[in-house]
Amino acid sequence: MGPGDEVITVPNTFIATAEAISFCGARPVFVDVDPETCTLNPWLLPAAVTDRTRAIIPVHLYGQPADMDPIMATARHYGLPVIEDAAQAHGAEYRGIRAGAIGDLGCFSFYPGKNLGAWGEAGAVVTSRRDLADRIRMLRDHGQSSKYHHERIGWNSRMDGLQAAVLEVKLKYLDEANQARRRHAAQYRRELSGLAAVRLPEEAPYAHHIYHVFAVTLDHRDACRERMETLGIHCGIHYPVPIHLQPAYRDLGYAEGAFPMAEHSSRHCLSLPLYPQLTPDQIDAVARGLLIATKESAELVA
Ligand SMILES: *Cc1c(COP(=O)(O)O)cnc(C)c1O
Repeated sequence: MGPGDEVITVPNTFIATAEAISFCGARPVFVDVDPETCTLNPWLLPAAVTDRTRAIIPVHLYGQPADMDPIMATARHYGLPVIEDAAQAHGAEYRGIRAGAIGDLGCFSFYPGKNLGAWGEAGAVVTSRRDLADRIRMLRDHGQSSKYHHERIGWNSRMDGLQAAVLEVKLKYLDEANQARRRHAAQYRRELSGLAAVRLPEEAPYAHHIYHVFAVTLDHRDACRERMETLGIHCGIHYPVPIHLQPAYRDLGYAEGAFPMAEHSSRHCLSLPLYPQLTPDQIDAVARGLLIATKESAELVA
């Protein structure tokens, strides 16, 4: 991988997905997302493949795997490796297979806010390919094959032992924590289902969704978000600026309108509070807050 090579991913992701491509000297090439799931639209993928394409990175956004079967089929057809960005999908499943275990490589972040979070920075790559496992182990430790013998130019990406100790304990509680998130998401669905102004996130039939984020879609997103703040309810936006419109990636030459679905999501998505420790009363308060915020913002506009 190097200059002149291309790697396909989506524009509505955290910038780390694109940065990984850039750090290899390659160029990120974006494919728009499915309007229902906000993950890579597999039917737009083949048209993005060129003779310079070297890999495909689907992102399992919000805790829901991308539609991997058609993505893998396209990848196999063109002989391309698939690297899963599973940074939001610890414990999620695609047709019974855990996210990260479907492609050639799966990448996890243990940033404190993730479903499995350390107390500082950490991450991991999983693979069932021995050659890739050996190579990545080497790269994370300055390209060493043995102490002070460097096969490659690598990185200092060793996991801090303290973080590993925290993660080893927290891993045991991951499935339980994900179940709590799913319960909370179900409560949001029950309480918000009658609200025409709120489009609920789609749960794909193939997915075991672990709700890293519960992102609703709203017409007057920014007004709603401000009103929610005044009610003491903090909501997030994932993500306000798609990667192809970030100043850091101006050189790629993408214009507004290039990826309508990702851009629509950046303007209309609102992430409601969601973490395992939430209580039913708190979720109820958020749902009521959203009812007030959507009603008032619609009146404001009218
Ligand atoms: C958190 C995250 C990453 C990785 O972030 P780090 O800062 O490297 O831990 C990558 N992709 C997505 C989609 C993420 O949410």
